[in-house]
Amino acid sequence: MSANQPLAPYRRVTIKIGSALLVDKAGQLRADWLAGLAEDIAALKAENREIVIVSSGAIALGRSLLGLSATTLTLEQSQAAASAGQIALSQAWAAALGRHGIVTGQILITPNITEERRYFLNARTTIRTLLGLGAIPIINENDSVATAEIRYGDNDRLSARVATMIEADLLVLLSDIDGLYTAPPAKDPDAVHIPLVEAITPAIEAMAGGAASHLSRGGMTTKVEAGKIATLAGTAMIIAKGTEPHPLATLTAGGKHTLFHAATGRAQSRKRWIMGTLAVAGSVQIDGGAVRALKQGRSLLPVGVTRIAGNFQRGDTIAIIAPDGREIARGLSGLDSADARRVMGRQSDTITALLGADSRSELVHRDNLVLLGAKEEVEP
Ligand code: GLU
Repeated sequence: MSANQPLAPYRRVTIKIGSALLVDKAGQLRADWLAGLAEDIAALKAENREIVIVSSGAIALGRSLLGLSATTLTLEQSQAAASAGQIALSQAWAAALGRHGIVTGQILITPNITEERRYFLNARTTIRTLLGLGAIPIINENDSVATAEIRYGDNDRLSARVATMIEADLLVLLSDIDGLYTAPPAKDPDAVHIPLVEAITPAIEAMAGGAASHLSRGGMTTKVEAGKIATLAGTAMIIAKGTEPHPLATLTAGGKHTLFHAATGRAQSRKRWIMGTLAVAGSVQIDGGAVRALKQGRSLLPVGVTRIAGNFQRGDTIAIIAPDGREIARGLSGLDSADARRVMGRQSDTITALLGADSRSELVHRDNLVLLGAKEEVEP
């Protein structure tokens, strides 16, 4: 394999396939295209890579199966469509990869699974076990039960969370566009393709615009958001065009794409997961002494806390705010917010008196804490 082959450095790869690639405008599966993609995936797997697929298409397939022709579906209709379509989608994947002797496993995910550590650990174990058995996990959002407020809604960010959850080296977003441009090319004829993004700066975010195609929910904006989740956690990301036959073979032959470099340094898996949290459960403001302690790699003690916002449980991710109001760190809280409020500002030795002997003296233990912007040089 040549060294400039774009996928050469990556062993564990998550591939996200958008609805508009898998399903045509009439709501039919693009079976020939899927057969070609499955061949490409089998070739990557034969090179000793672990592959995880995040596949959209349940709603698009389900709406034609159920005869739902309206342009915009109600929430109930799209959840019903997802329910019917997911069966067809799984069958299509099982058949396409089955032709290459590859077994597939289906995993349907809701945000609480990627955001709550005990579910997350369990899902990760299932995925790792499938990979260890030589199977390919096929993942989608559990759209038929996810409620409007508690859902990803787009598989770009979902795939980034999945990729970081399993510590993938690379996330490939197969899309209807061959990468990031300086402006949406459909609107701006002077838009220039960007082959490499070293870091996602506000200027890069501004380029993403907001365009979306007829079937996919995510435009370039959710792709760049996915890039932030992935790259911060040490997973590189590629956006490549998937519409033509054999999109992965085209990519490995050097096809046009945008590569987003992973932020340098590899954080421990727990820290990667904390960094990618979509929504924190609460926040604590700390004083200057605590800021210095955190920068020296120490735990956050209640004595340094000046203000607590939100209601959180022990184990939830909280934001840690400097005196100037900037978020400087994230971590898993060792206490729930009610207990944290009782002990904030107190010395550690008074805490056991207040909360009992088995209580923790740290609000956030240093192993569960990530300084934002800091480079971690820790092998997973
Ligand atoms: N989970 C949705 C589906 O399977 C797709 C979401 C997306 O397009 O990103 O239909």
